[in-house]
Amino acid sequence: MNKLALFDIDHTLLKPSKVHHESFEYALREVYGIKGKMHDVNAHGLSDRLIAIKVLKMHGVKNNLIRKNLDKAMKVMQEYYSKNMRKEKLIVEPGVKKLLDALQKKGVMLGLITGNLQSIAMDKMRHLGFDKYFKFGGFGSDGTKRKDLVKAAIKRAKLCGFKKKIKNVFVFGDTPVDISAGKANKAVTLTVGTGHYSLFRLKKAGADFEFRDLTDTKKILDVIV
Ligand SMILES: [Mg+2]
Repeated sequence: MNKLALFDIDHTLLKPSKVHHESFEYALREVYGIKGKMHDVNAHGLSDRLIAIKVLKMHGVKNNLIRKNLDKAMKVMQEYYSKNMRKEKLIVEPGVKKLLDALQKKGVMLGLITGNLQSIAMDKMRHLGFDKYFKFGGFGSDGTKRKDLVKAAIKRAKLCGFKKKIKNVFVFGDTPVDISAGKANKAVTLTVGTGHYSLFRLKKAGADFEFRDLTDTKKILDVIV
């Protein structure tokens, strides 16, 4: 296996999850006593930890208190999510299953690269039966900066036999942050217009390829294999 494709979750593989947002709000209310929402800040492409820090700051929580209780808040969030999974109605973006099947068939190693905490990301994958595609990744629980999440995913791929060479890591995402994180790790960046950014904005942000969505399996395969 000498190709690695890393996929963002929200707005790339799936539409954002309602229960995930609820878990975030629940954790901040329980641990910090504030009514904060993910949407209080521009959360596009950010890790759950970083979104929490930004929201808490916005609500006037002091830095030392944020730091002291953040691990606990993330734990509460994960527990709430797994407890409430049954309420979850995940929607897969167009073309995803066909593309993942095709990449797997071609022997491309697949991984996640997401700001979601690891247990939440993997709960989502299992819920959809996508754990047959994704066994590892770089997650929001690995750090706050997205480029570090890509690095963590590549490191885990290496443990599974992947050998990094020039242009054999492909990062899929829907935001300029996904692009810069991919570039920082010398990955080829493939972006989709299924999030909040137009293809024009993504191109301007330096994406190597822009697609309306993931339906054009052949065109995407041509980039990777
Ligand atoms: Mg995204």
